Amino acid sequence: MEISETRNLLQRLKTYKQSFTLNASVLTEWQNVVEEFSYNDINSKLSEWLKSNSNNYEYPSPYELTRGLSTIAEKELNPHVLCPICGKIISLTTFDNHFDRCSSTEYLIRMNIKHFNRTFTMKDFNKLSDIQFWTKYWEFCYLLDEKLSNSNEKRCLANAVLTHKGGKPITTAAAIVEAMQ
Ligand SMILES: [Zn+2]
Repeated sequence: MEISETRNLLQRLKTYKQSFTLNASVLTEWQNVVEEFSYNDINSKLSEWLKSNSNNYEYPSPYELTRGLSTIAEKELNPHVLCPICGKIISLTTFDNHFDRCSSTEYLIRMNIKHFNRTFTMKDFNKLSDIQFWTKYWEFCYLLDEKLSNSNEKRCLANAVLTHKGGKPITTAAAIVEAMQ
């Protein structure tokens, strides 16, 4: 970030923590630590910090605000994308795995309400390890398969199970669309 952005950031800090000293050497010291990071990232970290620290005589250090953040260069090497299901920002290298689990979680929630009258949240499933989650998921798919009477939903589920395991779908997408009309 630019030195003008660092100045804005520290001025923002000063509006909340009025005893904070903002002078040229403070600005230079902060700039040395934060310059490789993006303004938006550090500004969000400052907001988080301000929300949880109400003591007027405490200030964050630049090291505290950059902890866990990727630099601008690191972010360019490792692009991130927004998951359309949970709204989290996910590294492109792990996105396929994330999306697979996220969409399967969404399916579990939707089908549990619809066919078993059971209400779950994303949180209930997010706390499970991958092994625990996928064990539950496949158990549920077999349970659901027995329960489904709507043959179209049954075929969609069978397709999902087969393609997930690397097999070929038993019903074509065209046949499913036709059955839905
Ligand atoms: Zn997601």
